[in-house]
Amino acid sequence: MPAFNDNYLWLIHDGDSAAVVDPGDAAPILAVLERRQLKLVAILLTHHHADHAGGVTQLLQHFAVPVYGPENEIITGVSQLLSEGDGVTVPELGLQFSVLEVPGHTLGHIAYLAPEQGWLFCGDTLFGGGCGRLFEGTPAQMRASLAKLAALPDPTQVYCAHEYTLANLRFALEVEPENAALTSRFEHEQAKRAQGLATVPSTIGLEKATNPFLRDQAPAIVRRLIASGRLRENTPVAAFTALREWKNTFH
Ligand code: ZN
Ligand code: FE
Repeated sequence: MPAFNDNYLWLIHDGDSAAVVDPGDAAPILAVLERRQLKLVAILLTHHHADHAGGVTQLLQHFAVPVYGPENEIITGVSQLLSEGDGVTVPELGLQFSVLEVPGHTLGHIAYLAPEQGWLFCGDTLFGGGCGRLFEGTPAQMRASLAKLAALPDPTQVYCAHEYTLANLRFALEVEPENAALTSRFEHEQAKRAQGLATVPSTIGLEKATNPFLRDQAPAIVRRLIASGRLRENTPVAAFTALREWKNTFH
């Protein structure tokens, strides 16, 4: 569900029980739980930022549930610390997640993958057409994290935490104007937003075809970075760094 300006708080439910991913705000969650008569059974957090974890304390006042979060971050209310390869089971929903460490946006950032359903909850690491800002990690860390996500099966659905897709795709078009998959995605996503629809989830396959941050070694992108004076010698990390810096100042 939408929250704040552009956040998505993901609620997974079966009509009876519900788990929430990144509840930055408790109010919209509590309203939905009440309206649909759902019982909260688990809270999953990807990283420590307030727009993802700010609602935890208030939710815990209503529901005494396990709160999962990254081992390498300090977040109020977390009861179960997770690191790479750990599993999370939500028995009430028949859900099984595995944990991926994806540092870059923050140092402890984790993602949750439900392999059976093909769902990925990746917080502020991979976005529709883009990636999170590097608040704590290095470009090399973020690049490795994105490569880990890009290695998931193409149909994996990407549930990221913000509706940034159109702005990201505008940048992507600046970087790779001749990518036909990108042009058609932009039109498609624009039409969705015009109807008030979410562009999220996308898929790993779509991101690999259109997201410049997963394509920093595509020949057209490398050429563009070099021709615009943003890259001298092509290495994967140098190209990724140049892209991220370009995006930071692109409007
Ligand atoms: Zn964040
Ligand atoms: Fe965020």
